[in-house]
Amino acid sequence: MALEFPFDPLKRSEDVENQVTRDNKRLYYRFRPAPYYGGIATADAVGCSFLCAYCWNYNRNLYPGRFKEFYTPQQVADKLLHIAYKKSFHLFRISGAEPILGERTFYHLIEVLRFISQRKPDSMFILETNGFFLGYRTDLLEKFKEFPNLCVRICLKGIDEESFEQTTGAQKDFYRFPLIALRELEGLGIRAWPALMGDFFSTEEISRFENFLKERDIQSGLELECLEAYPSVQENMKKRKIREI
Ligand code: SF4
Repeated sequence: MALEFPFDPLKRSEDVENQVTRDNKRLYYRFRPAPYYGGIATADAVGCSFLCAYCWNYNRNLYPGRFKEFYTPQQVADKLLHIAYKKSFHLFRISGAEPILGERTFYHLIEVLRFISQRKPDSMFILETNGFFLGYRTDLLEKFKEFPNLCVRICLKGIDEESFEQTTGAQKDFYRFPLIALRELEGLGIRAWPALMGDFFSTEEISRFENFLKERDIQSGLELECLEAYPSVQENMKKRKIREI
């Protein structure tokens, strides 16, 4: 069935999680050393609660069920550790998709974190997330306290409800959840910070947004991301009527 925009991201998360999980396994399509952060072992997954116009993995996330390789948390950790030892990396992440769509993917991630932190205690896991499910289910956040080697980078998708809906394709009422996740993580003493695609907003808008975050008790500094304008990204942005500034 064709997806209608704007969609309910909670329903989409449930639907996508059903497609990308089997018991404690999750779909991944690639494991690689990536150059970001000075070198990071990366597991590329499929499936997201959002469909951002600038997502470099848009088509895989639109049809995640086409992929067939399910991996247990131990298999994921083994592959990532193998890359890390070979390349002398200390950093790990899941990319290409949203790591946490619901409880099943959350506990899959927890197991991956456990295997990696037990076998490589000097490592750091950078959880790159849109923060949606974490803000919806803040009761789960305590579990992260088990991992002192975890930091959470929450990629915010807009500076207000309108820009969030236009970018993600998800209904604007859900804008607040990633902000809730950030505030709660900070409150628990878990290292977390917000990131935003800076190319779509003026300096004044970004500065107003930084104040807006502070007023909501989010103290960590805002990281500004730069757009990687692949042809498919440019096409999707045109369809959503999003322009770089
Ligand atoms: S939240 Fe990230 S993975 Fe999900 S659609 Fe947006 S850019 Fe892609």
